[in-house]
Amino acid sequence: MNIVLLGAPGAGKGTQGDRIGAHYGIPKLATGDVLREAARQGTPLGLEAKRYMDRGELVPDAVILGIMKEALARPVAANGVVLDGVVRTVPQAEGLERVLGELGRRLDVVLLFDVEEEELVRRLSTRTVCERCQAPYTGRESGSACDKCGSRLVRRADDEPEAIRKRMREYREKTGPVIDWYRARAEAGGDAAPRIVMVDAVGEIDAVTQRVLDALSR
Ligand SMILES: [Zn+2]
Repeated sequence: MNIVLLGAPGAGKGTQGDRIGAHYGIPKLATGDVLREAARQGTPLGLEAKRYMDRGELVPDAVILGIMKEALARPVAANGVVLDGVVRTVPQAEGLERVLGELGRRLDVVLLFDVEEEELVRRLSTRTVCERCQAPYTGRESGSACDKCGSRLVRRADDEPEAIRKRMREYREKTGPVIDWYRARAEAGGDAAPRIVMVDAVGEIDAVTQRVLDALSR
């Protein structure tokens, strides 16, 4: 089964991707990991990617897709893959479809991790850290006292409601068209059409995993 993960920031895609991979016995390929591995191995495309990364520039889609194709062609990926962060734009979705087709494969599932913005804000805004000993807490308001040293708990700047809303907005603007593109593909039917599976990603990690596996087995 070839699966693409799509989801809002804070939806736990990485963690769930590892669990899905372990459940089906297929590797999870995250773009950053795959690029770094190719660079380490010194493949021609890996070295090309490394030149961009070393300059702090984005690696072009063509290079990423070439490296992904090599990763997909490995025996370990023969039964399927979980792709995390591989598709963020419509051209990347088109490129992935082409690469899979060249390998005689297809995308089976687009797994969409759904998180309601207000819920995400609520969840992340009670993620705090002690300003003195740095002990992390969840479910504790900023301003309450650290259990370990009694100092004040504060929120990380990334977890301020305004910052979360901004990340959600950016995600929607960028990934919304990708979801529409896959929906149109699914509606058009045909052999290349993936199944779109939407899962409520709010809740305990184990509960979300169960929801995902139930949805995938349906
Ligand atoms: Zn403390």
